[in-house]
Amino acid sequence: QHEAREQIIEAHELAAKLYHYILMNTVHGQEALAYLRERSFSDKLIEQFQMGYAPPQWDTLVQLLMKRNFPLRLMEQGGLISARHQQEGFVDRFRDRVMFPIWDRNGKVVGFSGRIMGEGQPKYLNSPETMVFNKSKLLYNLHQARPQIKRTGQVVLFEGFADVIQAWNGEVLNGVATMGTALTQEHVTALKRLTDRVVICFDGDDAGQASTLKSVPMLEAGGLHVAVAMLPDRLDPDEYLKKYGAERFRHTILAAAVTPAKFQLLSLRKHHTLLEDDGKRRYMDEAMKVIAPIDSPAEREMHLKELSAQVDISLEALKQECFEVRQKLQ
Ligand code: ATP
Ligand code: MN
Ligand code: MN
Ligand code: MN
Repeated sequence: QHEAREQIIEAHELAAKLYHYILMNTVHGQEALAYLRERSFSDKLIEQFQMGYAPPQWDTLVQLLMKRNFPLRLMEQGGLISARHQQEGFVDRFRDRVMFPIWDRNGKVVGFSGRIMGEGQPKYLNSPETMVFNKSKLLYNLHQARPQIKRTGQVVLFEGFADVIQAWNGEVLNGVATMGTALTQEHVTALKRLTDRVVICFDGDDAGQASTLKSVPMLEAGGLHVAVAMLPDRLDPDEYLKKYGAERFRHTILAAAVTPAKFQLLSLRKHHTLLEDDGKRRYMDEAMKVIAPIDSPAEREMHLKELSAQVDISLEALKQECFEVRQKLQ
């Protein structure tokens, strides 16, 4: 079992080198290289994150693995190749994709994510779950981000690894991401081992907002202090960084991260119209559910003042309402 794991990891390291070599040094990689440069991934970043290209042929990796005497059945279990349908033999799992190696906490390549160039489905093809690749545990870039997470005392949690990479380029060296899965209890535990402060910086679209709302209570239940960095215009961090630059990202997005309560209130405000009493009432009820449980009286009052202005109800009335909701909570 141990031997099998070692061999699978060794094959992943080899595959990463192969894909990277094809990208950087062959004519087959030129289109992929142009794609990456077009996305503002500099050669330095391509190097650091060992990006590569898997060519369209059926057996580029299979041939290399055979030549190096890797047992192909095991390589199939490791998710690098697939058995042919109704025939002998194996084919490469990843073909005609830009390749991103995925490292475990020790910096060993244990999986890949392959992006299609341009449109098409699936956008990202990931390695399957294997004995070395476990998406519900793995956090992308943890091995490189660890020192800076310790130094700064906080971790930035992104939604996609393109965001992690682009942020790294902008000197945000404490970023990690889940591998396209929702945050799990295991992720929370892994983060808590390193730090107790998390800044969530998910995509500015509805999906990103929804995952933020789901992730906050999980992280808080895990004993982490949470702040939420918000992106304008449905941009994701990668897009924002390219549009506005790293300075502005660090100073007006990350440094301006808000409390989860503030984030929830802003998101509620976006989803309610206050033109009629009915809408106002619903908004107020929802907002109260967020405000009432807050421990700090000053913070509660701050939010109540803002609410008072929005719904045009006196602060005194809202305070009374808040008091009553709080009592029901105890
Ligand atoms: P890009 O900038 O290349 O379009 P992204 O990171 O912005 O990628 P999102 O659509 O925001 O992509 O998705 C966030 C994350 O979810 C991705 O980094 C990837 O890990 C995962 N993901 C997205 N689409 C898929 C897919 N079709 N299959 C598997 N995982 C996916
Ligand atoms: Mn997204
Ligand atoms: Mn995105
Ligand atoms: Mn993106």
